[in-house]
Amino acid sequence: MPPHLGDSHRRFLQSMMSNSVMDEQQARLYTSQCVPDKLDDFIETINSKLQPMFMQIRKGMSEDNGQQYYALVNMAETDVTRMSSDYADNELELFRKTMDLIVSSENGKVSSTDVLNVADTLTIKKLKKSEAEQVLNRLVQDKWLNEKRGEFSLSIKCIIEMEPYIRRMYEDQLKMCHICHNVAFQCQICDSPTCGIKIHNPCVARYFKGRVEPRCPACDEFWPYEIPGN
Ligand SMILES: [Zn+2]
Ligand SMILES: [Zn+2]
Repeated sequence: MPPHLGDSHRRFLQSMMSNSVMDEQQARLYTSQCVPDKLDDFIETINSKLQPMFMQIRKGMSEDNGQQYYALVNMAETDVTRMSSDYADNELELFRKTMDLIVSSENGKVSSTDVLNVADTLTIKKLKKSEAEQVLNRLVQDKWLNEKRGEFSLSIKCIIEMEPYIRRMYEDQLKMCHICHNVAFQCQICDSPTCGIKIHNPCVARYFKGRVEPRCPACDEFWPYEIPGN
């Protein structure tokens, strides 16, 4: 018999439906009363009930702070068109082009200047600079993009909810983290031309923590970057 949902499962699910993402600490508050430290099992139980509805609670790591987050994902619709009730077609085209720029960048970020330049090349209907700025603000407010010092990156909500779409769309361009094996946007890349492995910034911080002379885990060459958090 499949496991049934208790009150804490239901409360957790309700909270997931009203918050777009939840961090691990918040999630643990719901599990502490029933099954301490079994967050994965707890979520697995809920997911077994959600599966027939093509819904799933998925986990992902924030590339900014390295924390785990959870989001409720509609697996039947993980692409950008799911945002079409909130955004016009040309606004979604701007978002897609922003995503293109982020995915093809070295560091997983794109400057607002570069995004505003593509606003001029939209095929559906061009956006004025001020209109494009407003769209970007909304995308940040709705937690699809993060903005820091005039640069945009994909939010954790976007990465968790759209990962299947991102993998499909950008198959050949995607970088994978050598440590956690997930898709990586903001990462460091091994300098050695024959190696070139990628590691998320938070995974770099964890992996090299306390090492005096950091070396690439794949080719053993010196790791020449600043280690975040050291
Ligand atoms: Zn990683
Ligand atoms: Zn290497």
